[in-house]
Amino acid sequence: MSKIHVKKDDQVIVLKGKDTGKTGKILKVDAEDGRVIVEGVNMAVKHKKPRGRSQQGGIIHQEAPVSSSNVMLVCSKCKRPSKTGRKILENGEKVRVCKACGEIIDTIREARK
Ligand SMILES: [Zn+2]
Repeated sequence: MSKIHVKKDDQVIVLKGKDTGKTGKILKVDAEDGRVIVEGVNMAVKHKKPRGRSQQGGIIHQEAPVSSSNVMLVCSKCKRPSKTGRKILENGEKVRVCKACGEIIDTIREARK
């Protein structure tokens, strides 16, 4: 099981570092490293060398990964940064719930073997 509490397309707020307070959407989750890439957060400048005729060189701005423990989910229902809990519904469905407002955020899809 992944220890990451957030997933792709989640809206999160940054709790630590130079982008504290910024919100953005999760673009990528690296479960093994426990890191996430958040849209517009932790922008790093990369110098790129020209590669052939099709790709121009230059400076590109790109998101660098941040630790998943430094971000918190922003609840889509109450719009507050919140901790999430898990709940199993009567029909056996597992869901993530917002601990602030108690609303269901989404369904947890377990990875199948
Ligand atoms: Zn909520």
